[in-house]
Amino acid sequence: MMAATDAEDANEPLGTCEGCAKAIPEGAAYHYTADACWLCADCAPMLSDLVRQWEEIVAAEPFNPGEIDCDSPEEMRAWIREYTAEIERNGDRKVMTGGAAW
Ligand SMILES: [Zn+2]
Repeated sequence: MMAATDAEDANEPLGTCEGCAKAIPEGAAYHYTADACWLCADCAPMLSDLVRQWEEIVAAEPFNPGEIDCDSPEEMRAWIREYTAEIERNGDRKVMTGGAAW
């Protein structure tokens, strides 16, 4: 019966939270980090957490963004400005990859 297989696929969790080991179900809000870790809504970073992380990276010499997809300190500083402005406009909040839109 094909139907049973389909139902199992639908219940397959997206991933497991790196912070609290909770399964992240399909359709749930989650954060997917640059180094390929899943975080549930409870463990997702705040906008200000990312800004702090990027500020540390751009302050270090030589520029090493690690797994973060960023070509230059200038690009990362632009992200910092953008996120800082967003926090000032709408307040700090969790950064979710799925669910709530950034
Ligand atoms: Zn978690």
